Amino acid sequence: MSGLTVVVPCYNEGAQVETAYGELTAALAGVEALELLFVDDGSSDDTLERLRGLAESDPRVRYLSFTRNFGLEAAQAAAFGYASQPWCAQIDCDLQAPPEEIPLLLAKAAEGYDVVFGVRRDRQDAWGRRVAAVVQQWVARRLLGIELPPGASTFRVVRTEVARTIAGLRLGSPYFLATVPLVGARYTTVPTGHRPRTAGRSKFRLARLAGHSFELFFGFSWRPLNAVYLLAVLGVVLGPSLALATWGLGADGGTALAALGVVLGALTLVCTALVGRYLHRLMADMAKIRPFYIREANVEIRPEDALAPG
Ligand code: UDP
Ligand code: MG
Repeated sequence: MSGLTVVVPCYNEGAQVETAYGELTAALAGVEALELLFVDDGSSDDTLERLRGLAESDPRVRYLSFTRNFGLEAAQAAAFGYASQPWCAQIDCDLQAPPEEIPLLLAKAAEGYDVVFGVRRDRQDAWGRRVAAVVQQWVARRLLGIELPPGASTFRVVRTEVARTIAGLRLGSPYFLATVPLVGARYTTVPTGHRPRTAGRSKFRLARLAGHSFELFFGFSWRPLNAVYLLAVLGVVLGPSLALATWGLGADGGTALAALGVVLGALTLVCTALVGRYLHRLMADMAKIRPFYIREANVEIRPEDALAPG
């Protein structure tokens, strides 16, 4: 196998980057044209200095460094923009996914796929996180009708051309999993190992998962808006019916009118809030047109690759 860029997003991974470098180079010794592209996502520890050191001692190592923390999605998008090889393998710096399984994903991709996702066979994360992930997937697939690769993780192999297309959808959501089916990329999943983190700390926050869920809700599904239409129709039908029924039951006109007002008011508020949320999203998307900033990089900076973060 030749021509592989390994994309490694790093946020405060000073305790881990060198181990990751060692394990990755050992596992991928057979790859002819290997590039290790680390992204320092605005770390406040010594991640950047360590990356500089690695880049100085090994020409296969390249890095990008953000001016502040932009999040995993922005880090991977930037890396996809700068990858020099035809295939990208993305792996977390903590190596919870085993690097020696990257060739497995590549072999699967060679069967004719653009993206191969690793699905954690025996996920080594706290039970709360696993439950939250299952709930999110269920809501997205069943309630919102969004196609998501089942159980897919950030351990994956992506054809660089496809990765760039997805990363370059500046107005789109950064949520990679939902965008892969959206652009019609051929994808599949393979079971992969998973181990607990051994150094540094998890940057996972429930807020991140909640943020992703909102992205999915408003960025990939029209169903919530359809619910608004339904509520509006319901208000039109229900309001007068309720008024008539209350009068029929002998309540005085004032009570009936108050009841009607409350129902219609509540429905209007719900509808306005939902439509407002779509507007908010539209504005957020427009704001994303601005590029994010790279503080330092030992790769050539191409302005057209200054992608929008999430
Ligand atoms: N990461 C990043 N930016 C962030 C948060 C995380 O680049 O804002 C990187 C992190 O350094 C790691 C990967 O994303 O390489 C996954 O993060 P982590 O292992 O903390 O998440 P978990 O495995 O607990 O979900
Ligand atoms: Mg991890």
